[in-house]
Amino acid sequence: MHNDENELLLVNGQIFTLDPACPRAGAMLVRGGKIAFVGVREEASSRCRFQPEVIDLAGRTVLPGFVESHMHPSILATTLLDVDCAYPRVKSVADIVDKIAERVRATPEGGWVRGWGYDDSKLEERAHPTRWDLDRVSPDNPVYVRRTCAHMGVANSVALRLSGITADTPDPEGGRIGRDPATGEPSGLLMDRAQDLIAIPPYTDEEIERGFILALRQLSKWGITTVHDMLVDRAAFATYQRLAESHKLPARVRVWLEGVTFGSQDAGLIPFALGLGLRSGYGNDMLKLAGMKFILDGSIGGRSAAVAEDYAGGEDDKGILYVERDELSPLVAECVKGGLRVSIHGIGERAIELAIASLEDAVGEVPIEAVRAMRNRIDHCVLPDRDHLRRIKDLGLVVESSTSFMYALGDSWISNLGYERACRTFPLRTMIDMGIPVAGNSDSPVCDGSPLLGMYAAVTRKTSSGRRLGTSEGITVDEAL
Ligand SMILES: [Zn+2]
Repeated sequence: MHNDENELLLVNGQIFTLDPACPRAGAMLVRGGKIAFVGVREEASSRCRFQPEVIDLAGRTVLPGFVESHMHPSILATTLLDVDCAYPRVKSVADIVDKIAERVRATPEGGWVRGWGYDDSKLEERAHPTRWDLDRVSPDNPVYVRRTCAHMGVANSVALRLSGITADTPDPEGGRIGRDPATGEPSGLLMDRAQDLIAIPPYTDEEIERGFILALRQLSKWGITTVHDMLVDRAAFATYQRLAESHKLPARVRVWLEGVTFGSQDAGLIPFALGLGLRSGYGNDMLKLAGMKFILDGSIGGRSAAVAEDYAGGEDDKGILYVERDELSPLVAECVKGGLRVSIHGIGERAIELAIASLEDAVGEVPIEAVRAMRNRIDHCVLPDRDHLRRIKDLGLVVESSTSFMYALGDSWISNLGYERACRTFPLRTMIDMGIPVAGNSDSPVCDGSPLLGMYAAVTRKTSSGRRLGTSEGITVDEAL
């Protein structure tokens, strides 16, 4: 690993220390992979013990390594194996079809072709592709293309047939099958739990490991040195352990095991974690168990986040809550009692309400001081109201705001919520002023994973088309850092 005699001396830089006592420095000495000194160049040089490698930064900026509070390296890993359908590489349904056609040509007959990352709100057609679009280039190979939010995807006719999905298939609970309004035939679009119906085979261990290495290298390019993986299943956990054993993890990984998610009908890995007596913090510096993940609703872009009022132009259209309070609260209480932190995905007001209520229900079984000390989290927390924020503060919750959403998804929020409600998203200024701990993140691969994008959005509140989601909740660059 790190040789203690390896020294690196950075000079002529603008080094941001985030230490109020000495916020900026010109030079930094690194020894054996650890920062040995930050300050003026002369002193840094005088502290060298060996022959350091010297890098002249010529005025460039150095920031501390980023802690990414919410992303999905294990999903990013598989998306890097999939056909890239993300904007701006793909701008229309025709582009998606072309890219799928290319992959079909390189895939054995009957083999699955997977695509990832389209955003219908950014496509020229402003619509999802359909099974019939995909059939044109793939009459024999099953194809499944997931939307950027991962809450929905489009299957071609072969994939629907292999999965047994027909006009007679009813919508599953918590999910919806998109249908042609005239004929009732499935259009290929599968929303939320309807995605469970698709009979797509899992990736092989070799494929997964190849994808993980691609994803983790990408993290290093973004300057991320610690990453919270928010949805770790058995295969991903095993892969992380193999990579850690062979010293191939370039970043520290914090593991949130799959608890209740949109893809599961049960408590996921919670009974196993509790059964083993696992507690948050188990592991080592490079790979550590963070806790259990719960997903309560979908996305605003996909109109499946559980909001308080109807989506713009909709009627009885308030999104979906995946679980009820009487199912959720006992699971949350079990985790908290067992020393497992919880991280609860809540985007719409109703989901945020449920997340908070489930933790309030746990208070009583566990003293509130103990609940606060755990630093349980709310993921995304896009539309909290004042009362939510007061209760979040009282429970000592960490809000991890996916600020990159504002840039990448903000325009679809304006269409789906209306401008005034879209401006109420991510009240960062209010939360910081209330003393609520706020962490930023990209939710990559939902958004581009560079933390700088999330900081830009937190400061400017600008969407990708340049509209502003209000200005009163903007924060400063230093706060964003
Ligand atoms: Zn996520």
